[in-house]
Amino acid sequence: DVAHGRILYLEDVHVSFDGFKAINGLSLDIAPGELRCIIGPNGAGKTTMMDIITGKTRPNTGKVFFGSTIDLLRHNEPQIAQLGIGRKFQKPTVFEKLSVFENLELALKMDKRVKSSMLHKLDSAQSDKLAEMLHTIHLTDSVSRMAGNLSHGQKQWLEIGMLLMQDPKLLLLDEPVAGMTDEETARTAELFLTLKGKHSLMVVEHDMSFIETISEIVTVLCDGSVLAQGTLDQVQADERVIEVYLGR
Ligand code: ADP
Repeated sequence: DVAHGRILYLEDVHVSFDGFKAINGLSLDIAPGELRCIIGPNGAGKTTMMDIITGKTRPNTGKVFFGSTIDLLRHNEPQIAQLGIGRKFQKPTVFEKLSVFENLELALKMDKRVKSSMLHKLDSAQSDKLAEMLHTIHLTDSVSRMAGNLSHGQKQWLEIGMLLMQDPKLLLLDEPVAGMTDEETARTAELFLTLKGKHSLMVVEHDMSFIETISEIVTVLCDGSVLAQGTLDQVQADERVIEVYLGR
């Protein structure tokens, strides 16, 4: 929501599991086109936060808005996906027996806003979009390869490409570079920098050198709320952050 300068807005969110406060007064803002990194020790509440945004987990109290007008707490998981919030889990999920091209084609045809049948050929605008995506995700040379034969990093890019074919307004990614080679990690950073500005991205990641290459603002979660926020240098110099990472 450009007018109000935010695409996602959480205010004082609380979630308890059997009395345990997994999310404890979490407030957060994401601006349109922003590439936000989320870090934090294990158990900080990063996964639960993404579950709340995507409608998988209901908070006990708090506000969760998409733009300034859409109350996400009034929508269920499939509706939230329809609104344009995409999610990528840590493990790549692609159709292993289909080619790279077919995976992207399927993603395009599964977009419910597009009234094309599964059997129809892509029109020229769709073909262009697919070709551009192949380039963006560094898979132009692998277009006919079976997805199951791609490297781990290439599968991750393919899945990101499939999500992007549906033009998400906000994309949540869980540890996208985990298990990637250094070269794949560098190319993923490149990919994210191309996406910045066009898409709003929230990335949970542990790889600090990756974060250093891509990030503007880093949010540190701890014990279910925001412990610190700022540039990577700022949060790494924050004594509370140092204590959380070294003291546990
Ligand atoms: P992170 O992703 O930062 O590691 P999580 O969001 O997975 O953190 O978990 C936050 C806390 O909530 C952890 O202590 C975890 O054990 C607890 N938790 C998460 N999901 C559940 C659940 N369904 N039932 C009980 N406790 C949970």
